[in-house]
Amino acid sequence: MNFQQLDSTDQKLVEAAKAVLQKNYHPIRHTVGAAVLCSSGNIYTGINIEACGYGPCAEPIAIGAAFTKGEREILAIAAVCKQGDEYAVLSPCGNCRQLLMDYASEAMVIFNHDGNILKTQVRNLLPGAYISDFDDA
Ligand SMILES: [Zn+2]
Repeated sequence: MNFQQLDSTDQKLVEAAKAVLQKNYHPIRHTVGAAVLCSSGNIYTGINIEACGYGPCAEPIAIGAAFTKGEREILAIAAVCKQGDEYAVLSPCGNCRQLLMDYASEAMVIFNHDGNILKTQVRNLLPGAYISDFDDA
């Protein structure tokens, strides 16, 4: 696996995810913040929207915010949750890994690997992934 250490840009992305969660935290409804870095250099953020049974994760909300503004190329993504008074980087769930494969397969994902915060391309987090043909449409 090609897992890399974070650089200052990655740290900035984690801080953006923390900031959006800090601003919107709710102990039940909004517990995760995410941030995506696009090729324009802009960062977009989102929070999860918990609902009875299912609610979208923070990552698709952040990706949707970026796409809504016309962005199409995501370079990196990070998500955080609150643990006590601290914020911790979260690894993306399986659904979000597939979403990233479909929309940003080259993106770097900042994730928690046994307590170490590292980054890697999403394909390394979803071996044998289903490959859509969205790009051919
Ligand atoms: Zn998810």
